Order: sequence, then C-alpha cells, then structure tokens
Amino acid sequence: MITGTIAKSQDSRNERSEVQNYANNAAKKGQKQHLKHQDTKKDEYSKNRENPLQEALELVRKKEQKKVRSNSYQALNILQKNELVSERIQNCGKPLSQYVEGRENKFKELAIGKIETCSSVHSCPVCRNKIKTGREEELSMIEKHIRKTGYQIYMATFTARHGLNDDLKTIVGSSKTSTGFLGSWRIFTKSHQYKKIKSDFAIEHYIRVTEDTLSVKTGWHFHFHVWFITKKKINNHAINDWAKRMYKLWSKSSVKAGLKKPSRMGFDLRLWTEQNNENYLLKSDWSASKEIMGIKNDGKSGFNIYQLERMLIDTEARQANEIGENFLKAKIKERSKALKGTRLLTYSPSLRDIRNKLFPKDKTDEDLSHMDVKETTLKFLFGSKLYWRLWYKGIIGDLKTMYAFEKGGVENIVQFINAFFPDYSKDIVTDEITLRKYSLIMEGSSSPDRATL
Ligand SMILES: [Zn+2]
Repeated sequence: MITGTIAKSQDSRNERSEVQNYANNAAKKGQKQHLKHQDTKKDEYSKNRENPLQEALELVRKKEQKKVRSNSYQALNILQKNELVSERIQNCGKPLSQYVEGRENKFKELAIGKIETCSSVHSCPVCRNKIKTGREEELSMIEKHIRKTGYQIYMATFTARHGLNDDLKTIVGSSKTSTGFLGSWRIFTKSHQYKKIKSDFAIEHYIRVTEDTLSVKTGWHFHFHVWFITKKKINNHAINDWAKRMYKLWSKSSVKAGLKKPSRMGFDLRLWTEQNNENYLLKSDWSASKEIMGIKNDGKSGFNIYQLERMLIDTEARQANEIGENFLKAKIKERSKALKGTRLLTYSPSLRDIRNKLFPKDKTDEDLSHMDVKETTLKFLFGSKLYWRLWYKGIIGDLKTMYAFEKGGVENIVQFINAFFPDYSKDIVTDEITLRKYSLIMEGSSSPDRATL
C-alpha cells in the first residue's frame, strides 16, 4: 500500500503507523465501495472511488505542506481544466509520446520526461518556478560581478495610479505604440532628460523586472522594479535630487503613454546593499506566497500571482480573504492574456554585453523550463494512458512528493498506483531489462518520440 511512502522519518513510528492505518483503511474502503459499485456504474473514477484517493492525497499534502511543489501542479491543473490560460499552457505537462519517463535528478528527486513544456514565465505555475530559479542564479552572478568591479546598485520602483476597473492589458501597454507601462518606459529612457540624469549620476546599466499584484479594492498594481547601476556612490542629498528628477520624468512619460499620473509616494529610489539583498528583484513575491495561509490580506497591498493561485486551489484561503471564485478565475484569465509575451527581466544593452560574457551559452526560458536529461537517470516508465489519468487528476506534483518520501523512490510510486489505480498496474514499467531496451531504442531512434517495447 501507499503506507511506506507517507511516514516522514523512521523515528516517528507512532506517527507512521497512524498514517499507515489511515491510508490502508482509505484504500480498503475504496476497494469495497468500488466492488459494490461496479455493477451499477462502470466509470472507475466515480465519486466513491475518488474519496479514498482524495483522503490519501490530503495526507501526503499535509505531511509536506511546506513544499510549494505540489501546489504549482494543482494550480496548473485547475488553470487548464477551466481554460484560464492559452492553448500552449493548457497542453503543458501532457504526454508527448507513448511513454512518459520517470527520471531521478542529482538531488534524488523525481523529474518527468517526454511531456509537453510550455515555458510560460508569467502564467504557468510549473514552468515559472523553473525559469525563475534559473534567472535568480543568473542575477546573483551578475550582481556579484557588478559589486566586484566597484559599481553601486540603486533600486527604483515605478508605479502608476490604478482603479478597480482598469484593464491590465491597457496598463501593460506596448513599447511599439508607446502606450502603458512599456510605452512609458520607452519614452522615459529615450528622452534627453534621462540622458542627462544618466550622465549626472554616472548610471552605466539597468535591469528591469516586471511585477504585478491584484487588490480587490484598487485593481491591478502593475509596476517595475529597476536596478540602476552606477559607477560612483551617490550621497544622500544627491539621491533625493536624483529621485525627484526621475519621478518628474516618469510622471510625464506615464501621462504621455496614457497612464494615470503616478503619485510621488509610489516612486521609490534607494541604495541597494548586499544586506538588503537575497535577490529581492525576483524573490519578493516568492517568500510572500508561503505566508498566505491563515493570513488575511488587508486588500491594500494586493495579492501576487502565487497567492492568487494558492487561493485557486484552496477554498479556505479564498474565504478568509473574501474573494469569490469566479472573480478570481476571471482575473487570472485576464492577467494571463495581458502578460503574454511580456518580458520578466530586461537588461540595458550595455549590461547585455556583460551578461553575454558571463554566460556565453545564453539560456532561454525554454532551456530553463526543460529538464536536462544528461543530469538525470531513467528509473521507470509510465504508459501514456496511466500518465494521462494522473495528469487529469492533478496529482503529478504529489507523485514527486511520494517519490521523495523516506527515499522510497520508484517503489513508492508503484505502491501508490497499485493501491489507487489497480487497473493500470501494468502501465508502469520498472524492470531494468525493458528500461535498457527502451534507452537503446531512444538513442538509435530517428523519431525520438516513439518507442515500442
Ligand atoms: Zn508550463
């Protein structure tokens, strides 16, 4: 049974047997109900069957609550089923061929191969995590390089006034048509005033990050965080002058681009030291996402996408924050459409050169969201029909959790399938001879998507 996979440590025997009983009973109950039910209803995923699976999954999730991993897969599943995202994202995670690969990475974690990957940084919860992790590493290396060469970092936040009914796509705008935030940024950086500011304060480079939150009172709060990298340290008095000039210029550019005039309070500029740090540029919304459970948002600061997705899968969190399910879904759909094609990170041209030297092999979002097969080992195969069921159930993230439990690996997955998807028991391939045969076929195959065993 699933049992061995759930208990967390070998010391906690009591806890373990409690969990074992729970899952055993849940599975037995399910089997009985299933048998009773078989005559009347052929659908093996009828409600009676679903309950014990649900119970066991709840258990797995509770035991591993700190990990955001299964949340992101659950969220993706809901986004896909409700068609809240584009077609490309709706296909993310689906089997690419007859077999889906269960691989183990260097951290002994389960990595899944031969599935579709959408590489959407804004709207796919699963790909976003992978891409952001990669970009964090990139940023941290660039920052180290910048500091080593004696540059200073100043962080500015660019905002605009917004209301509940403002449309996000209009707010984001476009640099081509000089509208919205992207247009305003173009007007800002192309202006002769900016060139003057650049030379007055010895600004050499910048990195711009887009971020957005949603407030139930004031709507979308889209904004830029920008690191300005200067050759010299600016004293406090001069920072005030710099901030004043930047705000004035941003204000003018925003109005030209059709945005509401930003408030002076909404513009912030400060020295960014290593203590401030931990790559706040990208990490700010990550850490907040972990704290949403049980915490009521005041509605002013707004929810980031991690929190919105959390509420999508968690009725209690939604109720605690008095957010309606339909409102939430509509907003997430609007956001996905509005941010499509928008860059997460933008480097100034001069910084791009430095980045290219540091990273001669530029990693695209696609590279970051795909698994590097060379760093993994093939452990088992799913038949695509079985994988499809698991994907449809939204439990792919849980498989990863189960795999990690007590380092049980493949054995845990097999037990889980046998307990809850007995009809698919043959659809999981673990014997080494077949796996080797599969690998050989894949190596020699001209059409790498197909292997017949
Ligand atoms: Zn994706």
